[in-house]
This record gives sequence, C-alpha cells and structure tokens, in this order.
Amino acid sequence: MGLTGLEIYKHLPKTNCKECGSPTCLAFAMALASGKASLEACPYVTDEAKEALDSASAPPIKLVKVGVGDNVVELGEETEIFRHDKRFFHPTGVAVLISDTDDVAAKAEKFDALEFHRVGLDFVTDLVAVKSDSGDAGKFKAAVETVAGKTKKAMILIAEDPAVMEAGLGVVADRKPLIYAATADNYEKMVNLAKANSCPLAVKGEGLDATAELVGKIVALDYKELVLDSGARETSKVLADLTQFRRLAVRKKFRPFGYPTIAFTSKDDPGEEVIQAGVYMSKYADVVVLKAIEKQQLLPLLSWRQNLYTDPQKPVAVEAKVYDVGEATDESPVYVTTNFSLTYFIVEGEVESTRIPSRILSVDTGGVSVLTAYADNKFSAETITEAIKKSGLENMVKHRKLVLPGHVAVLKGALEEESGWEVTVGPREASGIIKFAKESFA
Ligand code: SF4
Repeated sequence: MGLTGLEIYKHLPKTNCKECGSPTCLAFAMALASGKASLEACPYVTDEAKEALDSASAPPIKLVKVGVGDNVVELGEETEIFRHDKRFFHPTGVAVLISDTDDVAAKAEKFDALEFHRVGLDFVTDLVAVKSDSGDAGKFKAAVETVAGKTKKAMILIAEDPAVMEAGLGVVADRKPLIYAATADNYEKMVNLAKANSCPLAVKGEGLDATAELVGKIVALDYKELVLDSGARETSKVLADLTQFRRLAVRKKFRPFGYPTIAFTSKDDPGEEVIQAGVYMSKYADVVVLKAIEKQQLLPLLSWRQNLYTDPQKPVAVEAKVYDVGEATDESPVYVTTNFSLTYFIVEGEVESTRIPSRILSVDTGGVSVLTAYADNKFSAETITEAIKKSGLENMVKHRKLVLPGHVAVLKGALEEESGWEVTVGPREASGIIKFAKESFA
C-alpha cells in the first residue's frame, strides 16, 4: 500500500477487537502498510473509510498487462526505490526487436526457441517487438502476421504512424499488444486505437516535462493503460529519466509518472548492448527492448533479472528431500548438502557429471549455504541425522555411508555418533566432486 501505517490507522475503528488477527488496530494498520494484510480482514471498516483507503492506497505505479492468457506480462505495481526495503514485484519484460525489414520469419523462429534452464528454473524472453522501419502499412502488417504465426509470446507493435499501427493491430488486437507509441503529434489517434482494441499504450515524450504533459492529455481522454518513455536514448540520460520516473512516482506520488516504463537499447556492439540493457533493468525499466537474440547475450541478462526480482528476505530454496541423480539404486553413493538452491544445483550438476548414479540428501537449512548453516547450527550432526530419518533415506540405500561437504569436515565424528552412518569427507568445493567420485566410487 502507498500509505504509512499511521495514515491508515486514522481510518480504522480503533476498538482493538482483534478480529482481523492483529492485536490492535495500529498493528493491523502497520501490517496493511507493509502489504502483509488486506483491508478485507477488518469487518468494521466503514464504506467511507474504505473508499478513502482504496483511492489513497492505490499503488504508486499502476499495474499494466501486455498479452493474454499464459503469455501475459505484468508490468509495474512497484512500491520501492531500493529492493532491500521490501522487494521488486514484476520482473522487467525482456523484448527482442524484429524489424519489418529483417528476415522476419527466421528471426521470429529463433526468438520463439529461446529458453534457458538455470538453478532449476526456466527463463524465457517475454516479449517480441515488431517495428515498422519500412513505413509501409502492408509490409508492417505482413511482418506482424508472420511473427504472430511463429510465437505466442506477448507483443509490442512499434510504429508512430497511426495508419501503419492500425494495419498491424488489425492482425493481433486480440492478443493485446503494447502499442508504441503515442507522441505529441499522434496521441489522439493512438488513444482511439488503444481504446477501441483495449490495448495498453506507450507514451513517448521528449523529456520528462513533455512526457508528464502528454500523459495528462491522454488521461484527460480517459485512458490510463499507459507505459512511459521519456524519449531519451543515451545511456546516462535514460538511466536518469528512469530514476526520476520511479522516485517521483513512489516518493512524491506524482500521478503522471505512476505507470510502468519502457527503455530501448541503442548500442550496436552486442556486449555493450547487453550491459546497457542490464543498466536499464537495474534502474528501473519495466520493459527493455533490445536487438540481441543470441543465447549468450540474453542469458546474463535473464540471470541478472532473476537476482533482482527474488525476495531478499526469502532465501531461494529447494525442497528438503532425497534427490536421485541418474538411475540411482540402493547401492548408490549419497551426498549431503543444504537446501539453498544455488548450492544444491551446483552440487547436482557436478554429481551428474560424474556419470555415477547417486543420491543427494538436501537438508532443510532454511535455504542457506553450507557454511552459513553450519555457523547457525542448522547444518549439524543433529539436523543431518533428522533429515536422514525424515526423508526415508534409510529405506532407499542398503549401505549406511554419507559424503559430507569438506567445509564441515569437523562434523564427521559427531555425525557418525549421532546417525550411526559412516561419514566420508568430500571435497571442500563442488568442483572437486568429479575427481572425488572417480577415486571413491568408479
Ligand atoms: Fe481494529 Fe478492525 Fe482489527 Fe478490530 S478487526 S482490531 S477494529 S482493525
């Protein structure tokens, strides 16, 4: 919510009846302010108070959706300047640009095949942006048609001539593409197209002041499904403008900037382009449009996005249980590690590379790594023994042998005593697992 706890508290009944689950109205107000409770939980809020809270507590940045069904991309509804204050909610949409003068079919096919698997998660590029460089309505329409036939992902249509836009939109309006862009010269016609087809509309200004003015004119036409572009293309200027959009929306509740943003890369060098996109993603683009279509360019960007949009208060964890790697049997070696995703998947990758079917016991450490968990007593002889019992590992292997991470070799004696299992100290780093496995189990 956009209001502080005290501002919300003024509208609550102040009877401290506890029915909302909070001990006092003030505690409930604080929970509302931090997004941990919903106003519906209090049955005694008056309609007037509800109205006041609903309008005043609308998120500082509006939620705008591009696309439909499984391929919808949600943009905006962010509440923070700094991720560590709470978290960022809707990951930056990564859009690959296809010009109507490109080999459209080949590029669209390549785009649709882009997918990445990392730390147990699947990453994809979310949007495809089709741009009219030819200025020809027929050519743009054909390009949009071709792309739409090759991919179901959400689309952005780029043309500043409303007649060209109308031609492309005619083909894919039901897929609710983002229309790019309304400018000072064409906004009335673009708003009509957006309204008639219920599509989100990008607003491109020439600087911050002009963008705010243009948003005002479009809102006056009763259209609010907007995405902002200040028009800047030079990296430092784009970064400054994106930062101002976010700061003024979140800190000052400046409504003309209370919409998600879009940024375009301008660098031609593939490496520089990815860095530029990473800058915009970090602060604070909701969509980044780039020419890059090679996997090696997009993977670092998508990995960075994953890092930015995880909840900093919630460690990334896998389920604590026994995992089979390959065709594991009751004679397979057993490795022990924590349930911190990054640790687990690194260990799993190395164990897989040994080509020796194995089992991995992932111990619930609250999603923290081996040494951190050890320091906090969450990866100890007792917790590992408990995990052995709870996971049913005793029924999965005939032997009673475990491989312990080398960093916590000190646990060997206590673990053998506590569990009754024979403990072998493995390598300190996961990169040593292949050599260790070949020497121990081949
Ligand atoms: Fe206060 Fe409403 Fe919670 Fe009762 S239910 S304590 S009135 S906020």
